[in-house]
Amino acid sequence: MKQANKLLCVEGLQSGYGTAPVLRDVCVDVLERECVAVVGSNGAGKTTLLRTLSGLLRPSGGSIAFRGQRIDVLPPHKIVERGLVHVPEGRRIWPRMTVEENLFMGAYHARARRERSRRLDEVYSLFPRLKERRLQWAGTLSGGEQQMLAIGRALMACPALLTLDEPSLGLAPVVVDEVYEVINRLRQSGMAILVVEQDISRALQAADRAYVLENGTITMEGLGKELIDDPRIRASYLGLEQTAGG
Ligand code: ATP
Repeated sequence: MKQANKLLCVEGLQSGYGTAPVLRDVCVDVLERECVAVVGSNGAGKTTLLRTLSGLLRPSGGSIAFRGQRIDVLPPHKIVERGLVHVPEGRRIWPRMTVEENLFMGAYHARARRERSRRLDEVYSLFPRLKERRLQWAGTLSGGEQQMLAIGRALMACPALLTLDEPSLGLAPVVVDEVYEVINRLRQSGMAILVVEQDISRALQAADRAYVLENGTITMEGLGKELIDDPRIRASYLGLEQTAGG
């Protein structure tokens, strides 16, 4: 992998809660303009990984470099300023604020404030339904619209790398399609994306490359489309015994 276009470089990461580490020796890279998935079952450590990348959890070992500089010593708001922006599991929007107020909350650092109106136009053109509902309380939106709002709020912070924690969680399949269509459009616009998912099939189809996280360690990695056909993935995660031709 070419070092020059590496946006995120995670090496030997150890992190967790209290004394027992959840993540052990995790190595993950994201190149510029790349969509990378980290897939794994319930409790594998996916959320712990994204919380550590965004500075909400302090790692107990290893390193995280973003755009060539260590960020694992920085507080969360400084990491956002550098361009690594997190969309948390469960959206975490503010229900008693309007859609537009939620979006403005994403543009709190100086550069984002300067670009606020241009960014808002971009978010509204990506999500016309948010524009229609801009003065509505965010808590009145559907689950899918709240997910779009959480992504839109993150886009207001001018990300170079967007990290998404289980964007499909709790959504109907047709709405998940819409969310992944947005992810695809962002990637085509040149944004790098790191998505963690339990919906393994969906994430592997969307990703250029993917890692499998099991019990806090990376056990497999490869091209997303290749991993879908891997017999171990098919048997353990997709509930399929053989490849389509087999
Ligand atoms: P899920 O899909 O259920 O969110 P995950 O892969 O994101 O799973 P994590 O949420 O990172 O997994 O959890 C990894 C491990 O860390 C689990 O064993 C979980 O019980 C533990 N854990 C998560 N949050 C905490 C916490 N706040 N305090 C202590 N242990 C935690």
